[in-house]
Amino acid sequence: MSYVDEVMERVIAKNPSEKEFHQAVKEVLDSLRVVIEKNEEKFRKDALLERITEPERVISFRVPWVDDKGQVQVNRGFRVQFSSAIGPYKGGLRLHPSVNQGIIKFLGFEQIFKNSLTGLPIGGGKGGADFDPKGKSDREIMAFCQSFMTELFKYIGKDTDVPAGDIGVGGREIGYLYGQYKRLTGLYEGVLTGKGLTYGGSLARTEATGYGLVYITSEMLKANGMELAGKTVVISGSGNVAIYAAQKATQLGAKVVTMSDSNGYVYDPEGIDLALVKEIKEVKRGRIKEYAEAKPSAKYTEGKGVWTVPCDIALPCATQNELDLDDAKALKANGCFAVAEGANMPSTREATDFFLESGMLFMPGKAANAGGVATSALEMSQNSQRMSWTFEEVDAKLHQIMVDIFKKVDEASKKYGLEKNYVAGANIAGFEKVVEAMNAQGIV
Ligand code: NDP
Repeated sequence: MSYVDEVMERVIAKNPSEKEFHQAVKEVLDSLRVVIEKNEEKFRKDALLERITEPERVISFRVPWVDDKGQVQVNRGFRVQFSSAIGPYKGGLRLHPSVNQGIIKFLGFEQIFKNSLTGLPIGGGKGGADFDPKGKSDREIMAFCQSFMTELFKYIGKDTDVPAGDIGVGGREIGYLYGQYKRLTGLYEGVLTGKGLTYGGSLARTEATGYGLVYITSEMLKANGMELAGKTVVISGSGNVAIYAAQKATQLGAKVVTMSDSNGYVYDPEGIDLALVKEIKEVKRGRIKEYAEAKPSAKYTEGKGVWTVPCDIALPCATQNELDLDDAKALKANGCFAVAEGANMPSTREATDFFLESGMLFMPGKAANAGGVATSALEMSQNSQRMSWTFEEVDAKLHQIMVDIFKKVDEASKKYGLEKNYVAGANIAGFEKVVEAMNAQGIV
């Protein structure tokens, strides 16, 4: 049996219930076969793949808090410190009822390669809790965040582990978490990114993941003789990534016609009115359905059908496994020729394989959404220097980082004879830097 297959079997046996983790590891290891098989005995002797698939540390803890009725609630918190080979652990915190150890491990594993691709000195980590922020009052959110940080603060620090936002964690939550960290430690330091601008945040961090997604999509189109302007774009989700992807795509001359949430999607053939989406989602914290109630040209459809809307480009920006094989086929049948992932692992393995085999352009999340963590690293740099850069400075750096990521991914795919397979390119380019750092640091 090949070394890759041996390790895959072991990962499944050791982590039996963590199906998203298996999925993420399998995708990466399958891409790495061409690299591993050239030097299989050395990789096996060094147990390189066993080491890279085993987190350095998994922390799991109780998060008790009191709701507005006086009822005590208990959630489970996690922080997975996956790899510090190239820098301090870096990766977001997710608050969603679906959160479990397998989901946090899949996200932490992906983060290792994504962070490596940015070219910045950041290792891989991820965290969160099975807490549902939907429908909670501000006081309940604060009570939860304070309790969560009261345990988490023991394990993080500006030079060891720097969390950020993810699903369910935006500016409000980062503020409460930061306040509690400062109160517990007495330290005013850049321990979290995505902070507000009045207490150490970076301009353009809010926009970064969505903007970066559109920058790399443009690069991919350019490299294939096309451009974004004039194209019709379907976007899923209506959170941080989706909103700012829609904003940048619109600025660059594309027409975005959909947005969704976990209840359904809106289709607006006139182009999505982003001011209205922001009012519903960022101010009122409402549902996407309200968009169609306010805008006569839009139609709301309950359920998951967003991928049946005809488009040129699809940008999945909601959550993992939101786009399956049938969705991929529907996109292709309706004329879609390019897909770039704003979310982490939004396409199932079958959908990804279909995109690659049917000749569609496909940019995987670990490259396409790396602009968020890259800008978080820029926030860390500004905090260390006690400086703030302008929006234009940060945006220009973000743009350059995304151009460079595309170049690395494209070159790695060509180096191994897998031209236009950006999944392989991203996995290989991310892996090579981490392995070099691991080898240099010995068996640790
Ligand atoms: P938000 O919480 O701001 O928004 C999430 C959006 O996705 C909401 O519209 C939400 O709808 C929808 N969604 C969440 N879960 C589901 C589900 N199970 N089914 C259908 N829709 C769902 O999160 P972000 O925009 O920050 O994150 C979106 C994705 O991007 C995630 O995969 C995240 O890991 C990834 N990402 C985020 C980065 C960032 O900087 N924020 C960086 C890199 C990747 P509803 O309100 O109904 O739950």
